[in-house]
Amino acid sequence: MKKKEFKAESKKLLNMMINSIYTNKEIFLRELISNSSDALDKLYYLSLTNGDLKIKKDKLEIRLETNKDERTLKIIDNGIGMDKDELENNLGTIAKSGSELFKEENDKKKDIEIIGQFGVGFYSSFMVAKEVHVLSRSINDDKAYLWKSNGADGYTIEESNKDSIGTEITLYLKDNTEDDNYDEFLEDYTIERIIKKYSDYIKYPIKMEVEEEEEDKETKKKSKHKHEHILNSMVPIWKKKKKDVKDEEYNDFYTDKFYDYEKPIRIIKSEVEGLTSYQALLFIPSHAPYNYYTKEYEKGLMLYSKGVMVMDKCADLLPDYFSFVKGIVDSEDIELNISRETMQQDKQIKLIAKSLETKIKKELEAMLDEERENYEKFYEAFGEQLKYGIYSSYGMNKELLQDLLLFYSSKEDKQITLSEYVERMDGDTIYYASGESVDKIKMLPNVEDAIEKGKEVLFLTNYLDEFVIKTIGTYQEKKFMNVGDSNFDLSSEDEKEELKKANEESKEMFTLMKSVLDSNVKDIRFTNRLKDHPVCLITDGEVSIEMEKVLNAMPNGDNVKASKILEINESHPISTKLKELYQNDDKETLEKYTKVLYDSARLIEGLSVDNPTEMSNLICEIMSK
Ligand code: ADP
Repeated sequence: MKKKEFKAESKKLLNMMINSIYTNKEIFLRELISNSSDALDKLYYLSLTNGDLKIKKDKLEIRLETNKDERTLKIIDNGIGMDKDELENNLGTIAKSGSELFKEENDKKKDIEIIGQFGVGFYSSFMVAKEVHVLSRSINDDKAYLWKSNGADGYTIEESNKDSIGTEITLYLKDNTEDDNYDEFLEDYTIERIIKKYSDYIKYPIKMEVEEEEEDKETKKKSKHKHEHILNSMVPIWKKKKKDVKDEEYNDFYTDKFYDYEKPIRIIKSEVEGLTSYQALLFIPSHAPYNYYTKEYEKGLMLYSKGVMVMDKCADLLPDYFSFVKGIVDSEDIELNISRETMQQDKQIKLIAKSLETKIKKELEAMLDEERENYEKFYEAFGEQLKYGIYSSYGMNKELLQDLLLFYSSKEDKQITLSEYVERMDGDTIYYASGESVDKIKMLPNVEDAIEKGKEVLFLTNYLDEFVIKTIGTYQEKKFMNVGDSNFDLSSEDEKEELKKANEESKEMFTLMKSVLDSNVKDIRFTNRLKDHPVCLITDGEVSIEMEKVLNAMPNGDNVKASKILEINESHPISTKLKELYQNDDKETLEKYTKVLYDSARLIEGLSVDNPTEMSNLICEIMSK
């Protein structure tokens, strides 16, 4: 019989499994049991939607068999089974979610992470087995097929015999080595322990014949007998009372079920009885999944009804801004044959989704109040998603989300909420400045001025921040103002008057200077709030300089320009120099000075300079004089 090769990506995963240095090899059993459980779900589900199929739920089961002489471990289920094509397609290619990972070459350390983080599924059996046989008969076929593989060389599929529907997987365990003892997977107590640890909640019985010593009551003779044991409690963890479950068990459940290598930052347990009844066990991950901020990421919660898994990622249960939440919802009120199409209109689903949204928000607020450090960690990972929730809804969700936002405060040197800002402010304006990083914002001349005049300034460092602030518009009746905006002015009436006079006097000089810069600036003028700094750029209108940068960085972004004003420090010697040049009618030098001042103001703002060579030449020319 001709051997078939595995698909390229599967081959990589297989090699990884065969040569695995992963210490937690026992998870292969979790993976195989989970596949069996899915296969049982599928069969049961089919029987509910297809009246001709007579399946008794209490006959559905998973069996484990060991054979110490042959060194085999069997995992047997009477689930939906696989036909020839399915054996070929399901076991010859790895699941899509995994294949993404193998585009790049992996090193050993990364392998371990992948095994831990993702459901590597069926292939994990090659961590412990040198050969694997899968004998299966599908509900849709009267023939059975046997799939065989020793991993490396590919696989074969042949017709075979099997009386009943379902799948029987035989693992031929690897030979023991100095470092690894595979015989342990033939021991009853090891298997019991692994099942308890990872698969206790599986709702079908996992049965095994376990050898027990018995004493004859009369003769007192001891003898060994085999008894069938059910290894799992079959009560789903989300149906257990919170007080009966240790945090550790929730954590283990989360890491196993949702393929994370870190425990969640928060566990949310919710039980609702009423218009609609459900139990939910939700988790907030402590870090963003590797593909979270990409199109590949699929949000959703597992949906169970009457003990049957209806859908493994029900997207309609979660709003986009809480898409990071993982977990399970179990509700008797959900129709088993609900489809993805009817889901969106389903009244029960809507009710549950609304109730979950409220619950999740409450939990986040509680975390913000009581576990600030955890919240900051959460915010680091998912804050951007909350911001996006405000921005993308044109503010519709702002009431819901705005109090979950954090911004860096100039006063506290840490992140604060808007309500914390408002609590201690005076006046009616919330000041902010935006830039690449906290350190860079601190250096902005305008920011220095605002802080010196006693204002608390929020530093916006995320590209979405300013758009979010604009979308919020007003918070608790306070308006927002960028300290780089032309309306920002904290000087006294006298100072304003004085400055106005100075600007009037140099009006013609500025007109000349402006003609040099053409349409690049809307205005040039003196300012009195730059301390020792000679120049700065401020903006007039809706678009700030940071917004200009963000908008222009977007793919096929419009060429948006902030309306800029070049401000020159009136009390800086450079102002005297400019006036001198103008009075002496040295237009040529004044032009050069104007260019250099404008370019340096751009650099301060982190903008690029149109002609750096010219700028450098001009500076050197001026320096050499
Ligand atoms: P995953 O479970 O993540 O899809 P696996 O590699 O574990 O990936 O399994 C691939 C597919 O093979 C499954 O999706 C399922 O369709 C099929 N399969 C695996 N084990 C069984 C089984 N015991 N019964 C029926 N189908 C199975």
